[in-house]
Amino acid sequence: MSAQPATTRDGSPAPKTPATPAPISQLMGELVVDLLEQTGLIPEAKIGVLREQAKHAPVVQVLIDEGLASSEAIARIVAAQYGLPVVELGNVGIDPIAASSVPLHVLEQVNAIPYAFEDDSLCVAISDPQNIHGIDALRLASRHPIALSVAASEDIANELGRLARTAEAFGTRSSLDTVELEVVDEDELDDLEVDDGISDAPLVRLVNSIIFEAAEDGASDVHFEPQSDALVVRFRIDGVLHETQRIPRRSAIGVTTRLKVLAKLDIAERRKPQDGRISLSASAAGRMLDVRVATLPTVEGESVVMRLLDKSKKPPTMEEVGLSAAMQEQLGVLIHRPTGALLVSGPTGSGKSTTLFSAMTEINRPEINVITVEDPVEYRLAGLSQVQINPRAGLTFATVLRSILRSDPDVVMVGEIRDVETAKISIEAALTGHFVLSTLHTNDAPSALTRLNEMGVEPFLTGAAVSGVLAQRLARRLCEHCKELYAASKEELDAARIPEELRHGKTELFRRNGCVRCRQTGYRGRIGIFQLLEMNEELSTLAARKASHEELERAAMVSGMSTLWADGIEKVLNGMTSLEELARVSTI
Ligand SMILES: [Zn+2]
Repeated sequence: MSAQPATTRDGSPAPKTPATPAPISQLMGELVVDLLEQTGLIPEAKIGVLREQAKHAPVVQVLIDEGLASSEAIARIVAAQYGLPVVELGNVGIDPIAASSVPLHVLEQVNAIPYAFEDDSLCVAISDPQNIHGIDALRLASRHPIALSVAASEDIANELGRLARTAEAFGTRSSLDTVELEVVDEDELDDLEVDDGISDAPLVRLVNSIIFEAAEDGASDVHFEPQSDALVVRFRIDGVLHETQRIPRRSAIGVTTRLKVLAKLDIAERRKPQDGRISLSASAAGRMLDVRVATLPTVEGESVVMRLLDKSKKPPTMEEVGLSAAMQEQLGVLIHRPTGALLVSGPTGSGKSTTLFSAMTEINRPEINVITVEDPVEYRLAGLSQVQINPRAGLTFATVLRSILRSDPDVVMVGEIRDVETAKISIEAALTGHFVLSTLHTNDAPSALTRLNEMGVEPFLTGAAVSGVLAQRLARRLCEHCKELYAASKEELDAARIPEELRHGKTELFRRNGCVRCRQTGYRGRIGIFQLLEMNEELSTLAARKASHEELERAAMVSGMSTLWADGIEKVLNGMTSLEELARVSTI
């Protein structure tokens, strides 16, 4: 069977090719737009946008990317137009022999997947029958006649992803596009080869490909969770878990054992929680991954959670983390003072250390000595001396900090203040000719001051040393490709305490929708929500006499501090995030 020539549904011939022909795919794109216009499925206002974009990219892709249609609906329309059958890959399943009969790189190029043999023909699902060149490539690459059908492009892409991972796992992928992951420590390599008992190459590659895929997707954590029928792999992306793979139960122990070997854990111990780490280098992709591994015995078996740190990634700028222009300016003044302390406070996973690093990139310059003590080292910055704590080797925040202060630093970054000793040394350092940056686990900015006092730091020292506290939350950013405007009701705007002067008479806000690019979540990436408390004489005095949280907060608000919620509202009004999401991470 061949791709049908372009005729409209009522059988009239396709438009004639003009004298100076536009590329055939572009003409086809226009035709599809015409047809869609007739169906009335696309809002009229969008047709123009679509027509314009379809000049540069396949129209099907444009439709899906713009969130104008689901890939299933597109598949049905396109199939009818070209007189091809529709196939639901999820229902028919993929015959692995058929799938492997055409090289993967060709399939990926065309977005096609062979799923069965019928008589002598190879049944191939494609998403875009107008891609004549692609279909020709398929014919050339296959030794069988080809029978085309149309499937949802997303389904094809998913199957291709699965195929690619399997190919990677079994080493059948050509060396050109394989990404090698190496365990950095040479000793560990030896370990693997000697006596782990599972030097099982496919399993090793499967684990590597999962880790690499997680890094590619920007996942912060990977969960391997045993269930009765499978080992479920879930990635945490932008703070939310997504299931990505189910590994058959029979391979579960092999996978968890492999992970434990990599992390140098006791593979015989399955009843107690353990933790370890792996340093991986994906050299081809220019990546250095630091992976924290923790195991937990559950009733269904041992689960493994990995926290991924991509050490090669650059810290974002202060603007990129979401600091308003005003706050950037205020902070810019604070962090360039020779002494004092900037504390970033918030719950776990609120982006505190990323914000510290964005400040560090502003501070860092050749004429000053910057030393950090971290757990873990999340970003590598040129020109900094970065120390990783290692309690087993006696390197705690406090001990490292003491050594650091003997090495003549100008700026010291302490990953986290979580014990009295670290708190005391940090505050003293901030009073004795150093600028200190650190994080604290508190809900808002004023609480950081009371927390230091509770921890046993002399209140007058807290008052004198701290220059500012930045409280932070992370909200998911609305996906730019699919977010939609809606008319918010007066009640909604009032309930969110959006001040009239900020509304500027507008009542339209953005809310989430969902598209391929954001995995249907409506969100892509995250943005910080901040509250900045800048110390002044009054606040120092209050802190020194152990004032309550309420007193500190009141005084700070009078001198210009606002709430986390208010900063979030500005981001809602700018269309960066939604009210729904703001309410999830912060309260009025
Ligand atoms: Zn989206």
